[in-house]
Amino acid sequence: MPLLHPDKALALIEGLTIEPPRSERVPLDQALGRALAEEVLAPEDSPPFPKAAMDGFAVSSGDPGPSWRLAATLAAGDAPVRALARGECVKIMTGAMMPPGADKVIRVEYTREQDGVVTLLTAEPYANVIPRGENLHRGDRVLGPRVLAPQDVGVLASLGLAEVRVALQPQVGVLATGSELRNPGEPLEPGQIYNSNGLQACAQVRAAGGRARYYGIVRDDPSALRQAVDRALQECDLLLLSGGVSMGELDFVPGVLRDCGAEILFHKVGIKPGKPTLFARWERSSAAGGGEPSLRPAYVFGLPGNPVSAFVIFEVFVRPLLSRLQGLRYAPHTARARLAESFRRRDAERVELRPVRLERGEVRALEFHGSAHLNALSGADALLRMEAGVRLLEEGSWTDVRLL
Ligand code: AMP
Ligand code: MG
Repeated sequence: MPLLHPDKALALIEGLTIEPPRSERVPLDQALGRALAEEVLAPEDSPPFPKAAMDGFAVSSGDPGPSWRLAATLAAGDAPVRALARGECVKIMTGAMMPPGADKVIRVEYTREQDGVVTLLTAEPYANVIPRGENLHRGDRVLGPRVLAPQDVGVLASLGLAEVRVALQPQVGVLATGSELRNPGEPLEPGQIYNSNGLQACAQVRAAGGRARYYGIVRDDPSALRQAVDRALQECDLLLLSGGVSMGELDFVPGVLRDCGAEILFHKVGIKPGKPTLFARWERSSAAGGGEPSLRPAYVFGLPGNPVSAFVIFEVFVRPLLSRLQGLRYAPHTARARLAESFRRRDAERVELRPVRLERGEVRALEFHGSAHLNALSGADALLRMEAGVRLLEEGSWTDVRLL
């Protein structure tokens, strides 16, 4: 059977009918990384009053001087008590409200102040005033659904909002399968390795706005796995299993998921790394014997055990689903870049995503020994895509890389 093309696998995930997530209001200082679940409109003009963009002297442009009587001083936060009269100026600080009648600030360096009189030394070509509403008018759309970045938190604070409505975080279970695995901090016996996928996947979940729930390691034993998966399915919106998903004798994940009543939506994708990837849906009501109809299905990924594969498959398939579960559409960050060297391969059956470096905006290879070579990822800036059937990407050609 031909492998499922990764674009088709992604289209299947993006085409899922997913109910809009429930939402909650959170204080702004807990909003970072959360999915905004409302349209935020400007409650006021920004700035709400015309203000000085420089330290200097506020004058009327219709009153060219070259000298003015100093009538008052306005600091940021002061409200002007009266309008400017002809022949007058006001000493004004950056951010202070312009007095009525003034429409220009002569920067302090261009003037001399003596005995209550300010004299122009150098012509001031600019108005140096930020007009009311220059940045936003009341009712303008400021932000819509998106993952809130630090600058968005700043924007919301600048509007005076103390709380925002965000999507509830999806509960994402992480469970590593493999009798060879030990957790970091434990001693290794011969033949054992550390479970890196568990904490790596939890970190990826958190970075993508989910709430990670770590179930630890389950040995390669179908009844132990069945018990752990049954429980996790009850508790999670999305379950990430790692390992045990290929064709080996001890790869119990597909069978256990079937036994749990999950519907396998795809298994095996034409992507390198990550061919064994499995994706399934589990309907709570069918398994729980006609439970509440409002209960949502849980989704399950069987990630390959190899840690680079697990990482890449998360980026390519899990992240878009996690975004959907938060009411968002995920678009990876890409950059168009020139290849500083040629990239070759022998086997071109699958779409390949190869970790690469970006050096002065150009794509360079890094030492990479394949899907078990996890530490290579720490030196990677991006993933380079080679389409199925393509054996050579030539030096000097341009391509879109996916930024990590
Ligand atoms: P599997 O997909 O279970 O056949 O595992 C493929 C390879 O990945 C094997 O070398 C496993 O030892 C390794 N592996 C499986 N799970 C993990 C994990 N959680 N952390 C690191 N390596 C793993
Ligand atoms: Mg295994």
